[in-house]
Amino acid sequence: MRIDGRAIAATITEQVRDHVERLKNTGVEPKVGILTATDDESTAYYVRSIVRAAERSGILAEVLALTPESDTATIRGACRRLADDASVYGIIAQTPYPAGIDATEVIRQIPVRKDVDGATVESAGLIFHGLPAYAPATAQAVMEILHAEQIDLSGKRVTVVGRSLVVGKPLSVLLLGANATVTVCHSRTVDLPAVCREAEILVAAIGHAHMIGAEYVGEGATVIDVGTNATNEGLVGDVDFEAVAGIAGKITPVPGGVGPVTTACLLRNIASACERAAG
Ligand code: NDP
Repeated sequence: MRIDGRAIAATITEQVRDHVERLKNTGVEPKVGILTATDDESTAYYVRSIVRAAERSGILAEVLALTPESDTATIRGACRRLADDASVYGIIAQTPYPAGIDATEVIRQIPVRKDVDGATVESAGLIFHGLPAYAPATAQAVMEILHAEQIDLSGKRVTVVGRSLVVGKPLSVLLLGANATVTVCHSRTVDLPAVCREAEILVAAIGHAHMIGAEYVGEGATVIDVGTNATNEGLVGDVDFEAVAGIAGKITPVPGGVGPVTTACLLRNIASACERAAG
């Protein structure tokens, strides 16, 4: 069965719209600041889609678009301005950063209360401790999809392929928090197909188009494809959907799977950060 990410996202977005309306009725104007320093077209596309989705939900979005030639001090300064701006409730410092930039120095400027995409070390630490904070929106989106599909994670064997700070690592912590038995794989994992086949839930967050074929998937497994790879055929996932769909019990498509839910989770975090700041 194909999981409909757009429908899951629509439900969340509707709740966000109501939430934003309630905030506006109390005189609060939700606003997110988005910082970019790249001319990468897929990043620009992603940022435009966040801005559109934010505006559709009644959230203002201010984009600070710096050039890819910007140095650490310039990017840090722009991030600081957003941090000090009381009208901005959430900050997204969108990757990729220019080569040679001290990303830690930039991210350090984001106060944890405005860290709506879980980028800071503080947010990661809070998530690790099971304390309230915003996890990276993509990791949240995977949890949201599993929840929407009414998949009880307790005791389930979940394999995450990928250990990045934005997806694999935070997701593995969230899954542990939901009592799953988690295996995290990466480029040094030996016999990846055999490890993946053991999974009742398989999450691919790799960045290699169509890498996960039939030999990686156990009969009836739920497959969540986080991958977004720009190819000549357009945007494709890390999973070879055609090869896997007949084996998987449930599977997310790309596009229309994790992506829209990620955006919806981001909007929800912005509204929530706004509510906390106002309250
Ligand atoms: P990274 O490049 O930061 O991490 C990729 C991970 O995959 C690494 O841990 C790497 O292992 C692992 N990996 C790479 N090659 C292999 C391999 N052959 N076998 C096993 N593991 C491998 O990517 P991200 O986590 O940022 O993104 C992953 C994918 O998700 C990309 O396609 C990206 O576009 C997409 N994405 C989608 C989002 C959405 O909202 N839908 C948001 C964010 C990302 P190692 O650590 O050993 O190098």
